[in-house]
Amino acid sequence: MKVISSITELQHELASFDKEQVALVPTMGCLHEGHISLIQKAKRLADIVVVSIYVNPLQFGVNEDLDSYPRTLETDIAMCEREGVNFIFHPQNLYPEDGIQVGLHVGGLSQGLCGASRQGHFDGVVTVVNILFNIIQPQLAIFGEKDFQQLAIIRRMVADLHMPVEVIGAETVREEDGLAKSSRNTYLNAEQRKQAAEISTALTLMQQAATEGLSLEDTLDIALAHLKQFDIQPEYLEICYTDSLLPAQSLDTDKPLRALIAAKVGSTRLIDNMPLCPTTAANPDPEDNPLCA
Ligand code: AMP
Repeated sequence: MKVISSITELQHELASFDKEQVALVPTMGCLHEGHISLIQKAKRLADIVVVSIYVNPLQFGVNEDLDSYPRTLETDIAMCEREGVNFIFHPQNLYPEDGIQVGLHVGGLSQGLCGASRQGHFDGVVTVVNILFNIIQPQLAIFGEKDFQQLAIIRRMVADLHMPVEVIGAETVREEDGLAKSSRNTYLNAEQRKQAAEISTALTLMQQAATEGLSLEDTLDIALAHLKQFDIQPEYLEICYTDSLLPAQSLDTDKPLRALIAAKVGSTRLIDNMPLCPTTAANPDPEDNPLCA
């Protein structure tokens, strides 16, 4: 495995691969089992795996945690080595000295959910992912469903801009109590860590409620009451259509649905999401619900 910070050096290395499939796993480092599952998927699907580690300043707002974001390069390198990664790309800076003048902008898909409170966040994400795609030119790129809105936006970027790369989603990896693994979990103290697990419990309760045939309103209420019981005030708690990420009007729909939550635990902002498989007149059998396929 080579750890490379120079763009030209990485491109020189990659130029020697002609027929091999290259997969990119973009990360901000502080790797955990969630990232590892993406890397393992990349290993299964491609010949060469590049993991980028770059804390992208463009996707952080002014009052966000850019400076304190956990940086654990030595452990990250050891983890990648163990997984058989071919290249770690760890650039110092991906932008011109005088700042970036031209970037990408996301439309409606970035207006709700995380985009509503994190102005410019997704513009920063798509711009850096586009830069990484241009430098590395991977055939495949793997992203986690943990950041569901990000995954939807990147899929849309690739489709809208006809980028020659296949975007592959990977399921969320969780702690034993259900908490979605996240680099930001390192900010939580013991008490907050326990509280944080209630976010995934709320999502599981929504899944149960939908499967039991409850309405959209009742399903949301159950989750809200659960979070309240544990003193968690969500920034958003929504049921959206999986493709458009627009708020669902009803659970009685033939479109796939996703429940999504963002909430601060202490000062740590956490996000999580799960699919819903509502039992409805059109899909009366929970054991054989096409929305869960
Ligand atoms: P990050 O380092 O947080 O920018 O995440 C890099 C990639 O890892 C993104 O595609 C995330 O969606 C993905 N990821 C983060 N946490 C998890 C998790 N718990 N399970 C699966 N993928 C994850």
